[in-house]
Amino acid sequence: MSSPDHTPPETAPEITQEAVDALVEQAVADLEAAGSLEELKTARLAHLGDRAPLSLANRSIGQLPNEQKKDAGRIVGQAKGRVNKVLAAREEALQAQRAEQILLEETVDVTALPARRSVGSRHPVELVQQRMAEIFTGLGWEIAEGPEVEAEWFNFDALNFDADHPARAEADTFYVDPPERNLVMRTHTSPVQARALIECGAPLYVAVPGKVGRTDEIDATHLPVFHQIEGLAVDKGLTMAHLRGTLDHFAAELFGEGITTRLRPNFFPFTEPSAEMDFLCTVCRGEDTACRTCGGTGWIEWGGCGMVHPNVLRACGVDPEVYTGFAFGMGVERALIFRNGVGDLRDLIEGDVRFNTNFTVEV
Ligand SMILES: [Zn+2]
Repeated sequence: MSSPDHTPPETAPEITQEAVDALVEQAVADLEAAGSLEELKTARLAHLGDRAPLSLANRSIGQLPNEQKKDAGRIVGQAKGRVNKVLAAREEALQAQRAEQILLEETVDVTALPARRSVGSRHPVELVQQRMAEIFTGLGWEIAEGPEVEAEWFNFDALNFDADHPARAEADTFYVDPPERNLVMRTHTSPVQARALIECGAPLYVAVPGKVGRTDEIDATHLPVFHQIEGLAVDKGLTMAHLRGTLDHFAAELFGEGITTRLRPNFFPFTEPSAEMDFLCTVCRGEDTACRTCGGTGWIEWGGCGMVHPNVLRACGVDPEVYTGFAFGMGVERALIFRNGVGDLRDLIEGDVRFNTNFTVEV
């Protein structure tokens, strides 16, 4: 390394073979002593840089008498050649050494055990909703979505609910402050029927999976926020037979081959005629009068359905003289109970990943 003794002189050294040899000797010693590329750079600047003795000697040749120039040029040129040669060799050696060190530091032990990290799990409600949506997209239906905080008009009025219908009572519905804005947490996914009809017109085939809210206390079979999947088909010539066929296909795809549906008369403001829909018990298939899942009836209640009320079509700008439609809405959590054996709905909202993980593999 260059020490204070080797600080470049301000004036050019004398150009004699002995003086220049001494410079070369010192340069070679410093270059070879460099233990890293950084140290080599320092030595290079000290002995070959602009203010290095050899460089000053080289520049001073121009001022020499003509008869001395040839010898001086030869001596300095040979000296620089020797120093450059040593520098190149040392640089190559140090670069090889660094490459080897990097390889060593970056070695990957392929036999080492990986750090185990849990990746979490998708929620069973989301998984079954997605499966339901796939069944309808497989039929060529579209998937629609709507706001969870909904205008009272879409949630009730557009669906033919009277102004004094009991479902509007605060005992059942979450109203959003301030009251004059007339907003509710939607009590069903049906308002999306009205939104989709107004937006797209007829003919229309949409399925709407989504979150709804009702003022229920949390227990094993009730949650104040739960999920439904809504279906709506509006076209020329649709009948209850099309509704029934669609539901049978849906039930069989979701619960397994041979699971069909049954309709029982009921009343909803937005369908006429209306029906409660049951599906065949997934455990006993209607063959065990002592079955605990269906209470021996062979059927499990699932949701409501019916032909879209002409008033709903009219409210959405569709002519009920030209088009008819059917609609249905089913509970997603209820499907999980009977499809996946969820025994207590509270498990769905606890956020325990060990519970959720059980649903990620479909057999
Ligand atoms: Zn049963």
